Amino acid sequence: GTGPDDGDRRPRPAISFELFPPRTDAAALALGRTIDRLAEVDPAFISVTFGAGGSSRDRSLTVLRYMLEHTDVEPMAHLTCVGSSHAEANRLVREFLDAGVTSFLALRGDPPAGAGPDTGLGDLRSAAELVQLIHRVQEEREPFGQVGIPGIPGATRILDRPRPERVAVAAFPTGHPRSRGIGQDVDVLLAKEVAGANLAITQLFWHADDYLGFVERARAGGVTIPILPGIMPVTTPGRLARLQELTGVPAPSELAIPLEIEPDADALFDLGVDFAADLAREVLDGGAPGLHLYTFNRHEAVLAVLDRLGIRTPAHAGTERNTRER
Ligand code: FAD
Repeated sequence: GTGPDDGDRRPRPAISFELFPPRTDAAALALGRTIDRLAEVDPAFISVTFGAGGSSRDRSLTVLRYMLEHTDVEPMAHLTCVGSSHAEANRLVREFLDAGVTSFLALRGDPPAGAGPDTGLGDLRSAAELVQLIHRVQEEREPFGQVGIPGIPGATRILDRPRPERVAVAAFPTGHPRSRGIGQDVDVLLAKEVAGANLAITQLFWHADDYLGFVERARAGGVTIPILPGIMPVTTPGRLARLQELTGVPAPSELAIPLEIEPDADALFDLGVDFAADLAREVLDGGAPGLHLYTFNRHEAVLAVLDRLGIRTPAHAGTERNTRER
């Protein structure tokens, strides 16, 4: 090799991050700084979660607009369709497209706690229907096919069908909590691809085999879109327990126990970062197309993971020790 990135180094895997909309003005300020730091590593996109029931639509849009106005990063908007009518979902997609967002993570979402299995589900019954709707709204908004050229009477040109940059969907390596089995999760993922999804992003998982085994089953089942592994460095025992509650994915004892017994904050940080970096290395070695890092709105731990993997450039690296999360 000749360049600095040659030799036995692989091309850098695609990196992406996930954030959630801040709940306070102070958190919003801190998030701007976090986004700036994440943008420095040139991620493929940064996604912003969407509160169930549409409660945080405006707050999601604020974060997405910040990215559009202050960074070169492609913003990706999570959208959920549970509880919305066709008209509402249409309006929602339009509003994000009008703001300049062209990448989406299409989710069904969860019905409000306590709701019965069929109450409040709205018109759209699955993430696949939302994927179709995003494509339809995008097509209706922009002309395609044979269109006139303004100012030149009679002249026409062929415009390609406009496409959103990315329409991503969720995938569940250890099964969705409501799933009857992994086979069903593969079927649902395939249905989302058929509907027009061009990327899958996984729920958290704690063992590389969960991800690699799921990808193998998905490929055998006919899924061809890239499946990005979702990985979160978890640096406190409380957060690990909370994630188990939120995702239904059992926390791994080989991380939970060391986090429980470690009293020192710096050592806790290293435990969580090392675990995530090891997992990331294993899935990349197994063929993962990139890494989607859950940030919990902090840049320190995810950037430290990239440092451990040797993915950041030296100019970016080595600055996290003094600013790490306590
Ligand atoms: P789907 O993919 O449609 O279904 C999930 C699973 O449910 C399937 O794998 C299958 O096991 C089962 N299932 C689906 N359809 C059927 C059927 N017809 N019959 C029987 N079983 C079926 N939630 C939010 O509110 N906001 C967010 O921003 C958000 N971001 C997320 C990001 C990622 C990467 C992930 C993995 C999840 C996120 N979620 C978010 C959570 C998501 O809303 C929940 O997982 C929800 O329960 C299902 O949505 P889905 O799009 O995964 O559904």
